[in-house]
Amino acid sequence: MMKVGLYIHIPFCQQKCLYCDFPSHANLTNLYQPYVAALCREISGLGGVLSGCIVDTIYIGGGTPTVLSVNCLSQILEQVHDSFSIEKTAEISIEANPGTVDFGKLLALRAVGVNRISFGVQTFEESLLLSIGRIHSATQGVEVVKMAQQAGFVNVNIDLMYGLPGQTTQQLSDSILQAVELDVSHISVYGLKVEDGTPFAIMQQQGALHLPDEDTDEAMYELTTQLLPQKGLARYEISNFAKIGYECHHNLKYWQYQPYIGIGAAAHSFWQKERLANMTDVAAYIRAIEQGLLPIAEREIPERSTAMAEYVFLALRTVQGMSVQKFNDYFNADFFTYYGDAIARLTGKSLILTTKDRIFLTEIGMKYGNVVFRAFLP
Ligand code: SF4
Repeated sequence: MMKVGLYIHIPFCQQKCLYCDFPSHANLTNLYQPYVAALCREISGLGGVLSGCIVDTIYIGGGTPTVLSVNCLSQILEQVHDSFSIEKTAEISIEANPGTVDFGKLLALRAVGVNRISFGVQTFEESLLLSIGRIHSATQGVEVVKMAQQAGFVNVNIDLMYGLPGQTTQQLSDSILQAVELDVSHISVYGLKVEDGTPFAIMQQQGALHLPDEDTDEAMYELTTQLLPQKGLARYEISNFAKIGYECHHNLKYWQYQPYIGIGAAAHSFWQKERLANMTDVAAYIRAIEQGLLPIAEREIPERSTAMAEYVFLALRTVQGMSVQKFNDYFNADFFTYYGDAIARLTGKSLILTTKDRIFLTEIGMKYGNVVFRAFLP
């Protein structure tokens, strides 16, 4: 049976963080119930599409899924179980903001089958949390992780950020060490990017956003990539570190060009070589579902050359790199002939390494991934 991942998008947050351009909205509590009803209808409608498949990963992301009540989250998961075949050992993840859970909610999430939780902590430095507009304190960040572990979560991720306004390398180091001390199985560390349309972008234009300089940013990157493996969390993707066996199976699907179905407003799917995107407007999504329409806003089968480039650069994000044989089988092509020039150029710059059957990013390549990825684009 073909395996497939499910991504379920919850586009709600208690408050927008100042750097965030994700498809999520504050102050839409009135839409929680109708949205959950629409999600359940969309899931039910997809039952036939996935009848020959088995779901081995479910990822409830956002937004902040944990702004919803346990009752709402249970309804969604019940509908998933009613509509699809779910593998017994499926990884079922949820994203959580430390300001939106308590022990009771964590216990209830375990009881409905969620077995992986990812906390958006970002930093354990109080002043930095305030400066980026998070709703929780550093103490809450520590407490919720401990509570999740007490509630039975073995597979716990903490998201951290570097390059925050006024952040020092020491503060980043302290946050990483605090996360390690909590003995979580997975840590993701992302560099801040100022995205258009966010309050940070406006502050930057006004000269009111004081980010670490390039050297400090680089030192933070180096610190992250060295410290976490020293502490037993191996790097398995550019921004992701895990204890052995705790890599996020759902996210691996994205990098390994595996099929997944996105459900909910703004959710993306990759199904039968086609990329699909649902409408982003939450009210429009609910209306479409209520009228029995498909909520799809865009769909496209990428051109062969684009699909090949995507395949390569997604695989290269992982430390395992890409299997040349699998690429050749998937595209009925010869990788080394097709990309001969790019490979020679990138090898010359020490950005990639190739063996007979694999291609990897080097340490430098990991740092300058975008340069490598551009080289494969048509
Ligand atoms: S909690 Fe997450 S999704 Fe919500 S606004 Fe903050 S960063 Fe964005």
